[in-house]
Amino acid sequence: MKLLEDKIKAEGIVLSDHVLKVDSFINHQMDPILMKEIGIEFAKLFGDKQITKILTIESSGIAPAIMAGLELNVPVIFARKRKSLTLIDNLYTATVYSFTKKESNDITVSKQYIQPGDHVLIIDDFLANGQAALGLAEIIEQAKATVSGIGILIEKSFQPGATTLLSKGYHVESLARIASLTDSKVTFKQD
Ligand code: 5GP
Repeated sequence: MKLLEDKIKAEGIVLSDHVLKVDSFINHQMDPILMKEIGIEFAKLFGDKQITKILTIESSGIAPAIMAGLELNVPVIFARKRKSLTLIDNLYTATVYSFTKKESNDITVSKQYIQPGDHVLIIDDFLANGQAALGLAEIIEQAKATVSGIGILIEKSFQPGATTLLSKGYHVESLARIASLTDSKVTFKQD
């Protein structure tokens, strides 16, 4: 997606060979125009999948997921990373190892919001090792619903996440794919 690649080129900061900082338009300040276009793009890519729900993870997945939900006209659920006082039982849980925080966390979704028969689209901001997407897929499968696709804003193709998800048979669509972050430079993967 050209708009996203242009934004990464203009504002992305390479923190290391493995980490890209995009705080000015995704992870801290958010760009609503970009998010709207991302929602439209995901709706095009997954429009034929009879999606009934979108599942993301707090907090940076929420903005693109809500825009995709608006386009596809379906509810958007976000998995919680922290225990909530009001979310106490009837939970689906999966353990996710965080690439950025280097620790494992349980993510939770209330059983109320995913039913058997749902066709769920997973959306997240980054794909690195695939742990967040796999945790979300595990929750959908616990609910006996179907993972209908995985939509990613920024895939770091030099890390194993995309290959792992594809080898499990998931339909993955990444709007920007990064081949490398070496020498403080973002190089996009060519199709
Ligand atoms: P994975 O679970 O695929 O290993 O990592 C994806 C998660 O880690 C995303 O939800 C995102 O929050 C975070 N993440 C992974 N790589 C990066 C990165 O280069 N930059 C930022 N800002 N977040 C990342």
